[in-house]
Parts: sequence; C-alpha cells; structure tokens
Amino acid sequence: MSASPPQRSSARRRSQHELAARARAIRLAVFDVDGVMTDGRIYLGASGEEMKAFNVLDGHGLKLLREQGIEVAILSGRRAGCVDRRAVELGIRHVVQGAGEKLPAFLQLITKLDVQARDTCYMGDDVMDLPVLEACGLAFSVPDAPHEVRRAAHHVTRRRGGEGAVREACERLLELRARIGAAGRGEG
Ligand SMILES: [Mg+2]
Repeated sequence: MSASPPQRSSARRRSQHELAARARAIRLAVFDVDGVMTDGRIYLGASGEEMKAFNVLDGHGLKLLREQGIEVAILSGRRAGCVDRRAVELGIRHVVQGAGEKLPAFLQLITKLDVQARDTCYMGDDVMDLPVLEACGLAFSVPDAPHEVRRAAHHVTRRRGGEGAVREACERLLELRARIGAAGRGEG
C-alpha cells in the first residue's frame, strides 16, 4: 500500500492552463538566498564574515527574466555582505536582507515596487518562506525543502539550491509564459 494516495484533485495539481495564466501575470520574481541561490551552507570566517557559494548558471536565468520585463529581487532572512556583492554582479537592484519575518518584508517590497502579490513569483526552501509562497502568484521550491514547503509550491525544481535551481525556475517561468497560446488545449 502506498504511503499517500494520488492527489489529482489537489490544488497543487494545477492545470497547465492555470499555471500559464499565473506565469503570464508575473512582473516581479523574488528569490530567497540560503538553500535557493546557494546550497544552504554558510562559511564563517574568524571575524564573523559570512561566505556563500552561488552558481553561475543562475545569473543567466535572471538575465532572461529581465529581458522579458520581469523585475528581480532578493528576500533573505539573514544578512551578509556577500549577498549585496552578488546582487550587484547580477544587476539586482532590490535586495531585502535580515527579514525576521518574510511576509511583512515581502508586502513592503511589493508595495514599494507597486506590484500586486499575484503578479509576483517567489522561490523559497524553508518553513519561514511558507507565508510568502502562499501569498504570491506563482510559488517555486527546491527538491530538498520540507514536505509542507514543497506542497505549497506550484513547481518544485529538479535541481537543488546552489546547483542551478534558480536557473531552472527562471526557465520554467518563461516556458509557462510562452505556453499560453497552447494552454487551452490542455497540453501537458
Ligand atoms: Mg532559505
């Protein structure tokens, strides 16, 4: 007997049509850092400086989003100088760090950018990301996220955080937007 029955009627088993419509509305893509843009490991120097490993694959994905007119932002619960540095490299102008609670920080960000939550996609990997994953229009997560986080996501990437997960999410988002013309045929 299988551990859990198929959930074909689950809200998470959304049709391609609905996903494409959600993707088409996206004007802002927000990414968590630890466990999404990185593998979640934090290297601590003797002086307390934090270092993280980012993946070069992700940069091109974010560039593709901006070419489609989608603004990109970072929303992290922690605070590290290397994140600001990476954001500059990637041309990301909107960086929120040290967000103790992510939903208020997210709402503040989208208010500032004059974007509705439904016109925003978010990618997160942990339970503190759940309120934002549930509030945004299109939610992404990674394969090693806790069950309830993966369940809250519209799409879980095959790649893990720091291993090109952001690139994959960007490509998935663009693929869904491009599929809108075929969505009515229920194409899988
Ligand atoms: Mg995280």
